[in-house]
Amino acid sequence: MSGISAIETAFRRRSAVTSVLVGYIKKYAEDLARRDPHYVYKIMDFCGTHEWTIVHYGIRSVLETSGIKSVELVAGPGCPVCVTPSYFVEEAIKLALEGVVVYTYGDVFRVPALRGVNGARSLAEARALGGDVRVVQSFIQAIIDARGHGKPSVFVGIGFETVAPGYSEAVLRGLVPPNLKLMSLVKLTPPAMFYALDMMQEKPTDYPVSGVIAPGHVSTIVGGKAWVPVAEQYGIPVVVAGFEPHDVLTAIAEILRQLRRGESKVVIEYARAVRWEGNLRALSSMYTVFEAVDDAWRGIGFLPKSGLRLRGAFAEHDAMKYFSVPELAPERWQYDLPRTCRCAEVTLGKARPTDCPLFMRACTPDRPVGPCMVSMEGTCAIWARFGGGGLATDVARDAGIV
Ligand code: SF4
Repeated sequence: MSGISAIETAFRRRSAVTSVLVGYIKKYAEDLARRDPHYVYKIMDFCGTHEWTIVHYGIRSVLETSGIKSVELVAGPGCPVCVTPSYFVEEAIKLALEGVVVYTYGDVFRVPALRGVNGARSLAEARALGGDVRVVQSFIQAIIDARGHGKPSVFVGIGFETVAPGYSEAVLRGLVPPNLKLMSLVKLTPPAMFYALDMMQEKPTDYPVSGVIAPGHVSTIVGGKAWVPVAEQYGIPVVVAGFEPHDVLTAIAEILRQLRRGESKVVIEYARAVRWEGNLRALSSMYTVFEAVDDAWRGIGFLPKSGLRLRGAFAEHDAMKYFSVPELAPERWQYDLPRTCRCAEVTLGKARPTDCPLFMRACTPDRPVGPCMVSMEGTCAIWARFGGGGLATDVARDAGIV
């Protein structure tokens, strides 16, 4: 990253706002510790961008150096590239090597598949072998490009609820040319949150998650109310937060404040972008074009109603049908991470990247072994790039490396 924003400067200098927020967190944590001095309050940040904020700004270190030992921040499954089954990456590689133009995002381009296809283990390698793989920033960019050449093409549409309305609107408005098909691999976040919360307390000795920082970008679409079932079923506070460090600190303070009072409410901290009802127009567009299906998550398996596929009425746009890519049925799904990669546990908040023996040894951002080391929303990639709370960036800058 180049330049330092005013917010980052204020945070790094522990401005009055930061000090006040950390002071509140400390006070609430101390109040809670009086009930049980050994209890660990786990707060799950679901979204990869929240994890980025936490690691980049060294929020874990700020809590620790402020004497707040009873709060543990754990990363959740908020990285769509990390959880897309290897099967679909392999199918996209196959299409690229068969002469189909493949469009996708930059991180999907690099994600390693479990099994190689004719010598290629990623779309990047497929391009090196002659496949026509084009990196785009959006579905619209792919549409404009595909219209220009008219060749058979596929857009590998990975993402959460945030991106789905962009796909559905293009379909509904008739913008998609006949030569471009959509491989919808969109995942829905609430089912994954339920699963991650269950998995965090597999053993009776595990501390459960005490509160959730809900994904801000996703919530601009689904709204704050989408998280009410989580707050109700688990009896924990949920705060929809923005992505500045003060947003995250405010969310932590609010979760502890509610825990101290025995409350479990959904609160929108990110009120400058998120409404309680969500974006009704976007939701209507999304569910007109797509339907929720049971879907596979990489390394995890099938979660009920956790993915979006094109409805039958829009089958003409469906890459799976057009290119005869068989849908991944539960009986065909196989564990799809490299043997020693602990990406599934990292994704579910049960392990930290540093718990993986390959972290920054065999697996680095330049040579990723598992999918969590690729995207800027992948926990391993974030820890690899910004471990040290941003200090590494400062040192690198002083040394003239960046
Ligand atoms: S460091 Fe690499 S191999 Fe280990 S869990 Fe992360 S992505 Fe997987």
